[in-house]
Amino acid sequence: MSSYEYETHAYDVVVVGAGGAGLRATLGMAEQGLRTACITKVFPTRSHTVAAQGGIAASLGNMGPDHWQWHMYDTVKGSDWLGDTDAMEYLAREAPKAVYELEHYGVPFSRTEEGKIYQRPFGGHTTEFGEGPPVQRTCAAADRTGHAILHTLYGQSLKQKAEFYIEYFAIDLLMSEDGQCQGVLAWKLDDGTLHVFNAKMVVLATGGYGRAYFSATSAHTCTGDGGGMVARAGLPLQDMEFVQFHPTGIYGAGCLITEGARGEGGYLTNSEGERFMERYAPTYKDLASRDVVSRCMTMEIREGRGVGAEGDHIHLNLNHLDPATLAERLPGISESAKIFAGVDVTKEPIPVLPTVHYNMGGIPTNYWGEVLNPTEENPDAIAPGLMAVGEAGCASVHGANRLGSNSLIDLVVFGRAAAIRAGGIVDPTTPAPVAPKASIDKALERFDGLRHAKGGTPTAELRLEMQKTMQQDAAVFRTDKTLAEGVEKMKAVAGKMGDIRVTDRSMVWNSDLMETLELANLMPNALATIVAAEARKESRGAHAHEDWPDRNDEEWRKHSLAVVEGNDVKLAYRPVHLEPLSEEAEGGIELKRIAPKARVY
Ligand SMILES: Cc1cc2nc3c(=O)[nH]c(=O)nc-3n(C[C@H](O)[C@H](O)[C@H](O)COP(=O)(O)OP(=O)(O)OC[C@H]3O[C@@H](n4cnc5c(N)ncnc54)[C@H](O)[C@@H]3O)c2cc1C
Repeated sequence: MSSYEYETHAYDVVVVGAGGAGLRATLGMAEQGLRTACITKVFPTRSHTVAAQGGIAASLGNMGPDHWQWHMYDTVKGSDWLGDTDAMEYLAREAPKAVYELEHYGVPFSRTEEGKIYQRPFGGHTTEFGEGPPVQRTCAAADRTGHAILHTLYGQSLKQKAEFYIEYFAIDLLMSEDGQCQGVLAWKLDDGTLHVFNAKMVVLATGGYGRAYFSATSAHTCTGDGGGMVARAGLPLQDMEFVQFHPTGIYGAGCLITEGARGEGGYLTNSEGERFMERYAPTYKDLASRDVVSRCMTMEIREGRGVGAEGDHIHLNLNHLDPATLAERLPGISESAKIFAGVDVTKEPIPVLPTVHYNMGGIPTNYWGEVLNPTEENPDAIAPGLMAVGEAGCASVHGANRLGSNSLIDLVVFGRAAAIRAGGIVDPTTPAPVAPKASIDKALERFDGLRHAKGGTPTAELRLEMQKTMQQDAAVFRTDKTLAEGVEKMKAVAGKMGDIRVTDRSMVWNSDLMETLELANLMPNALATIVAAEARKESRGAHAHEDWPDRNDEEWRKHSLAVVEGNDVKLAYRPVHLEPLSEEAEGGIELKRIAPKARVY
């Protein structure tokens, strides 16, 4: 290995990631008087959170009666009884406080006539413990809620004198021999320098890993880097088999085409021009629920009735609708279709594909954001010095399925919780630990190995192979056979990391190398997903298994844990937390005693 020089920094806390979760944690840590650095590979306000439109859930009750217990109940049910009860209670109970804080920090929420925060209805959010009508619980800043939150939190973090390291790529965690996280190694993309950040607490807020799939609504930067780093540190990933799909992402680009397109009368067709949804769902047809439509589309493709040269997608038809209606009600969609598919929606169908939208699984944590390293004696044992928040983490509040607008609130509630916790356990008067030289050398060696990789497979080629495999075999349509085949294929694909080829050897703005580091992070996330999916012999939430169509609480109401080493995955399980935190939760809804029931809406 050629020798590398690096600059050393020391902080109380280093947050990796500047999306909603990373910024809320950064701001909170700095407010607690902790010397805080935030490292981010993209400019903070370009994080994927910026794309969130719909809104953020909290039981403010501005538009009619609402209670945090109702929000908690909906989240429990939405999770298909896989979420941790204490974490779901914490989320629902703290949500209003977290939203009012955002308001006071300056988020420009839309307003009601009386000047209160405007709230809109969203799927799965109800009143009276699922017995009453839908509730307006989703707080919105027009259709730019994520954008508004991100800009506000960035400004507030700067005000609190948090220090930002922008366009720094975190490569690996620096672990002590006894398993304590003591910092992170990062690469400054624009000048090629390397940086060791020693810290008493490292917070991973690196977002999801949608890009393990061919079609994802998330940004190209959503490559599961936190999960990759954690896997290489020998720590487990939790509930990775649960991946949320949206039926209509634009083929190839993955950008979202809203459900509203079908609401306005759009419909799906296969290669025979058939409106196939009529066959599967005679009543609701194209407006059946998201997971059902996604599954039917995939079945059509698998049975050889997909459209296009490779027969691998479906058509969404809007061209029968009045052009004036399209221009008035769906202008954004018409524009997206033109830009990303080259399609004039008044004349041609849009090529679409079920598209990955959210990762329920991630780095296991308790409701304070502390990362878990479960042992047989203690399934809630903590990995010291390490926290994870946001989509990278798994608290677990979304269980097997996330409700819309419950992610943005997860970011701020748990970003805030992590800061409160760190304020209690990180002592700002002591010096930061010095990460062992061996851990730095190990990380540098891996970096150098990839930088000089001269195998036969270019990064882009292997990435595409991984994405197509995941799209086909770990998708909405899952059977014993497809999953078993998928596991074998993914192991072979992951094995090819040893044959990767990087052509650019420079240190400055080397996007070839950066994408290779990202692929090396996507790979363990993808492997854990498909292996955990193959093992789970039931259907629960987003994991819809053709051969095991029912939920099986007796055997499978448990979190899966995947430890990934190379292309080998070892699975273990840990119990779901059934105890709520407070009597109010228990007395209010008797959650503990609510026998899980079928999730029907
Ligand atoms: C199109 C779209 C619309 C959505 N709409 C909604 C909605 O309306 N309501 C809702 O609740 N949810 C919505 N979601 C989900 C929600 O937006 C995301 O789950 C959430 O924004 C993730 O936030 P995050 O802070 O965890 O990560 P991100 O916002 O993805 O940020 C990740 C951060 O980590 C940094 N990072 C990653 N890897 C590294 C590395 N190696 N080194 C340094 N930095 C790194 C990045 O630079 C970035 O700053 C939507 C998602 C999408 C894709």
